[in-house]
Amino acid sequence: MNNTSLVKLKVPKRKRIAIVAHDGQKAELFAWIAKNRHLLEGHELCGTGTTSTIIREKFELEIRSFYSGPLGGDQQIGAYVAEGKIDILVFFWDPLEAQPHDPDVKALLRIAVLYDVPVAMSPTSASIILNSVSMDKEYERYVPNSNTSIEKRVDELDFES
Ligand code: PGA
Repeated sequence: MNNTSLVKLKVPKRKRIAIVAHDGQKAELFAWIAKNRHLLEGHELCGTGTTSTIIREKFELEIRSFYSGPLGGDQQIGAYVAEGKIDILVFFWDPLEAQPHDPDVKALLRIAVLYDVPVAMSPTSASIILNSVSMDKEYERYVPNSNTSIEKRVDELDFES
């Protein structure tokens, strides 16, 4: 990753999974959850407001709610990704409809790639990730080291007072 220094992050056995679905993809997401509830319940779940509330009520799964996506929920999840608090992102974004918060959608996908978080964007990709052998064990990933990056940038920019 260019010259950004990386730091090793331990991904726990019990994964922290963030779940988001645009309105046009919610039916597809809930159908997928109905089939995979037994796999999801062993992990720590969170999601954008509407998506997570429906998951809690419909599937009786424990899930933390952030704000609704258009009101900042995607950005809250993005902040968690940057803090190393999300291990998997299930993000069923709508390929046929523009969203009022499209910049937030792009930002969340960007930050997930930057922090090497696996992203599932459709039922098959989500099933493949959820059934991966890595779901049952700890592993490591490398993420940008924010501290050294700041130090380096401060040195490089070197503003004279
Ligand atoms: P919602 O947000 O779960 O509140 O519908 C999802 C989104 O549009 O990002």
